[in-house]
Amino acid sequence: MKAAIVTGAAGFIGSHMVDLLLDEGFEVRAIDNLATGRLDNVAHHKGQRRFSFHHVDICDLGAESAVFTGVDHVFHFAGIGDIVPSIERPLEYMRANVTGTLAVLEAARHAGVRKLVYAASSSCYGLAEELPTSETAPIQPEYPYALSKWLGERAALHWAQVYKLPAVSIRMFNVYGPRVRTTGVYGAVFGVFLAQKIHDRPFTVVGDGTQTRDFVFVTDVARAFLAAAVAPISGQVYNVGAGNPQSINRLVELIGGPVVHVPARPGEPRCTWADIRKIQRDLGWKPVVSFEDGVKVMLSQIDYWKDAPLWTPETIQQATRTWFQYLSDRPV
Ligand code: UDP
Repeated sequence: MKAAIVTGAAGFIGSHMVDLLLDEGFEVRAIDNLATGRLDNVAHHKGQRRFSFHHVDICDLGAESAVFTGVDHVFHFAGIGDIVPSIERPLEYMRANVTGTLAVLEAARHAGVRKLVYAASSSCYGLAEELPTSETAPIQPEYPYALSKWLGERAALHWAQVYKLPAVSIRMFNVYGPRVRTTGVYGAVFGVFLAQKIHDRPFTVVGDGTQTRDFVFVTDVARAFLAAAVAPISGQVYNVGAGNPQSINRLVELIGGPVVHVPARPGEPRCTWADIRKIQRDLGWKPVVSFEDGVKVMLSQIDYWKDAPLWTPETIQQATRTWFQYLSDRPV
């Protein structure tokens, strides 16, 4: 039986990775500090013989961490997200997303794991001019979160180069699906809109809603990580998106409900669009869940967001003040 570690296992994407690995017969060691992750997200595996949960902060992992002993694959999702808090508290982001990654890399190196897959962010492309955006597009982070995730990626590839730790980085576009964010910080449009839908409040559409995002369903993303883990490759970077951008207006149409507009924000791309030819070619991966089906799945589980924060134009204005303050010279 193969053993895998999932860091950030109680988070949104990490918890889906756990589901997939257990389905595929892996022994799964789930690591999370529960700062933003929720035990509920993995509670359905409690008591399973092949599942264990380790309440650990990755920054505290020693190089000889016992939990890494005998592990074949490491899926590294642990970290913190969101734009505004990263502008306000950049060192926290560097600690969690860069220093934390270094600790995971060292533990993985000492354990002699077969492959580490790093969860990177497409935010490294900033306001990309090349659309669809390939892995060779210029790196231009717009805020500290994006920088920290990119530095984590550089570290993973550096460990691959210097220490021969087999590592692959996956740059995720807009991942959505069950269990997507319910925490207090503003961001991640699905959590915002679904809470608004439950409470019969208007969807807070940014700008005119014609901006598009490459939304990719979370179970497709987990399959990409598994494909990267088992393939005989190292030192590579792959985009993961659906390759089929959808507008916010289309999302509103699918969820259904009234709309209120809030101002467009500086430094936000008009469009994100992954060029996914590389991962299709090298790993044979392709997304299989259509946007319509993915949204349907979320609507069928809408109760999950009943306690999620309810955002209004006023609270959004408050929550994004720092954003407008620091990024005001960036294009809107
Ligand atoms: N968005 C929106 N209303 C909101 C939050 C987000 O219209 O209350 C839009 C936002 O302008 C962007 C998209 O939804 O085009 C995705 O935003 P999110 O924060 O989920 O991810 P991003 O791509 O900005 O990292």
